[in-house]
Amino acid sequence: MRLLLMGPPGAGKGTQAAVIAERFAVPAISTGDIFRANVAEQTALGVAAQAYMDAGEYVPDEITNAMVADRLAGGDCADGFLLDGYPRTPQQVAELDAILDRVGVGLDAVVLLEADTDELVGRLLARSQEQGRADDTESVVRRRLEVYAAETGPLADHYAERDLLARVDGLGQVHEVTERILTVLTSAAAQRTATSAP
Ligand code: ADP
Repeated sequence: MRLLLMGPPGAGKGTQAAVIAERFAVPAISTGDIFRANVAEQTALGVAAQAYMDAGEYVPDEITNAMVADRLAGGDCADGFLLDGYPRTPQQVAELDAILDRVGVGLDAVVLLEADTDELVGRLLARSQEQGRADDTESVVRRRLEVYAAETGPLADHYAERDLLARVDGLGQVHEVTERILTVLTSAAAQRTATSAP
């Protein structure tokens, strides 16, 4: 299973990615988590990424693409993966396509988790109280939502044109959202089997 989980900040990608990846026994790869771990360790990658993250801006594509290419080359990704928070720009879409083309595989599905802006802001501000993430202040939260709407939202159309996109309502209990995702993935898998049958 090769999956992408897309959606605005606060939609619940990280929470759902962990559950879905476990269900399909594939690694959940979150670019945000990898960046945060590198910032915490103050590696060269972390130092390069930190100012962008703190401002709610995307880390430049060259840095992000190199990191993801390296991660997907890991042996644990050979049979599948779930990418959470990548790709977010057209250049990242192109890089992911190139990586997959090189090994002759394709994506199985792209899940877009949706929620309205007020709900997202509320969740992110609540999370900032609990976790104290540096980029969860109100002004940075609003900037992250703007950047998402401008740069990443439009990518959904691209995957819809390829017939890979499944939109899922991100409102409700965690387990309800998980069930919705599993339902769309099951029907995507069934459709794929039907269309690839002789
Ligand atoms: P969220 O999507 O909720 O804003 P993430 O944890 O996924 O949070 O990402 C946190 C930050 O890490 C982003 O605001 C951005 O600076 C950086 N980042 C994560 N993924 C990418 C990506 N694919 N491209 C560029 N920057 C990214």
